[in-house]
Amino acid sequence: MSAKDPGETTPALVLKRQDYSENSQIARLMTRMRGKASVLAKGIRKPNPELLGAFDLAQLGEATIRWRKGDSLHLVTRWRVVTGFPGLRNALGRFYAACHVTEVLCEGHRDLDPDTAAFDLAVETLAALEIAEPTAVPAVTARFDLRWLAGAGFAPVLDGCAVCAKPAPPKAAVKISPGRGGIVCGDCLGGTTPGLIPLASAGRRFLLAARDASAADALGLPADAADIVAVRRVLDAALEHVMEKELKSARFLREIDVQRASDALV
Ligand SMILES: [Zn+2]
Repeated sequence: MSAKDPGETTPALVLKRQDYSENSQIARLMTRMRGKASVLAKGIRKPNPELLGAFDLAQLGEATIRWRKGDSLHLVTRWRVVTGFPGLRNALGRFYAACHVTEVLCEGHRDLDPDTAAFDLAVETLAALEIAEPTAVPAVTARFDLRWLAGAGFAPVLDGCAVCAKPAPPKAAVKISPGRGGIVCGDCLGGTTPGLIPLASAGRRFLLAARDASAADALGLPADAADIVAVRRVLDAALEHVMEKELKSARFLREIDVQRASDALV
């Protein structure tokens, strides 16, 4: 590709951004066409007909990128913001959930390894979060986590035992083992299964409903405050198992959920 070529145009989500030199920015983008990439946008912070609007977190845009072979920093020659999902910025719970979505993409994908399903899932999740009532944010977030985990090949088994496939009775409390891939029944528990997470039947029903819902239907799935904390533990542990580290957003989501649960007790 010659230096005069503007590059390739693709939808892109801003996962991280930071100012660079006087007028420029560096960003981590999830592009629909080529997957995750680090980019430089020279002069994006000054009036520029090709770069309209500085990068902001969880922004969806159309980027024209000149891919630099053998370089880990690619050049954005044109940028148009499609939406900054403004509704995410006027409620803390929505914003934390959006940060969680971008962090999962940032930590869960390799550079230049396209995953259009994950890209589209993130976009529809941010669009739903933008209008979500506080009580619906956990369901929209849980739906994202479960579907992202399924796409990565690590969907936690929630219908029955992950080891022997025995169905779990609908009203029974269960124990989840992130290391063994989901519910582990009493017969398969054995003496030493570390990191077991207890989950009441209401929490499991909530997860199954969130997993199977459309994004629009998830907006109508209010979570019982008492269940949210346990549900988040299951999801965070499953993500941590895949990523081999705890996500920063897990702590923020937990804080919000604990606050919501304690408010519900008053
Ligand atoms: Zn079993």
